[in-house]
Amino acid sequence: MSKLNNTDRIFLSPPHLGDYEKKFVNEAFSTNWIAPLGPNVDLFEKELSQYVGNKYATATSSGTAAIHLALNLCNVNPGDVVFCSTLTFIASANPILYSGAKPVFIDSDIDTWNMSPVALKKAFKYYASQGIIPKAVIVVNLYGQSADYTPILEVCNEYNVPVIEDAAESLGSTYKGKKSGTFGKYGIFSFNGNKIITTSGGGMLISNDKDGIERAKFLATQAKEPEIHYEHKTIGYNYRLSNVLAGIGRGQLKVLESRIQKRKEIFRRYEKELGEITGFNFMPEANFGRHNRWLTTLIVDPSKVGINSTEIVRKLNEYNIESRPVWKPLHKQPIFTGCLYFTSDNNSVSEYLFKNGICLPSGSNLTYDQQSKVINSIKEIVSKVRS
Ligand SMILES: *Cc1c(COP(=O)(O)O)cnc(C)c1O
Repeated sequence: MSKLNNTDRIFLSPPHLGDYEKKFVNEAFSTNWIAPLGPNVDLFEKELSQYVGNKYATATSSGTAAIHLALNLCNVNPGDVVFCSTLTFIASANPILYSGAKPVFIDSDIDTWNMSPVALKKAFKYYASQGIIPKAVIVVNLYGQSADYTPILEVCNEYNVPVIEDAAESLGSTYKGKKSGTFGKYGIFSFNGNKIITTSGGGMLISNDKDGIERAKFLATQAKEPEIHYEHKTIGYNYRLSNVLAGIGRGQLKVLESRIQKRKEIFRRYEKELGEITGFNFMPEANFGRHNRWLTTLIVDPSKVGINSTEIVRKLNEYNIESRPVWKPLHKQPIFTGCLYFTSDNNSVSEYLFKNGICLPSGSNLTYDQQSKVINSIKEIVSKVRS
């Protein structure tokens, strides 16, 4: 299809650079701090910690690496059980497999699309009856909305199990006045190219546990013992972020607030212009905090719209617009066949959201005209099936 060229294509969530990234990157070049670590890394860790209001952080080569380190800090070993939200990107659970542990998936709540505290409690009860306590619970804040931490932490604290908060998509969001990422024992962020801010690739592990973060830095640097020669006693990883990329991150942090405002604005326009279509229902915003609207997502009721979500995604592609289904639940992924899955009742909310959900182009550099193009294309697709 020749019309699908990159210059006109409207992407889901492309990178959006500001005015300071080059300055920090140039500083790295002019001081020859190209190698991993260096002043940008230290300052990026410090500045991000200040922004979210947590004490300690270690920058990593990816969000996935940060989750793997967090599992390590929670002492997850082969054969252990780790609970994880099912409705998420594979990166939330891949590190469970790296650790040789067994993932167990927890369904979503229809009001937040995030981990259902009721389903979580059922999973805990089931495993406790077998004499098994999971080593950690990975809770995802989906599409920029915080999970409901009060009931989730209540259950986890009852069993004394640490929470790893996967805040890869929710930087800048809040829950009851506190920044997203700060609710678990460990929190992780991602600066992959499609996230609300990017370092082209990178992540961050945050915590108020000083020893844990020091240990994470050690593990992320090949677990090199403090000797003059190269001494190693434990398995280490090469997971640290480069000083060049941390420079991009520092620049991006300066524009984070404006990026969130822009994404929320885009969401409001979609909601205003498309919300009147019967059978379109946007992802709800829970009243417990701020949703950064990383991606605008909605549910399509095919019996009312006359066309299903998959068809809309396919047709938007013909207009050279990238949209996506909502994440395919991890318990439905072939790689996790045989893993247990807990719902709150007989309905599988995550499967319903996957079947009917769409993510619309939501990048903070999406122009007004591009938004109009998305809106008009969807209106046209819907009106054609109705006529
Ligand atoms: C992007 C993402 C990650 C992983 O981040 P990378 O930096 O790409 O490794 C983890 N969890 C969720 C929910 C994500 O969206």
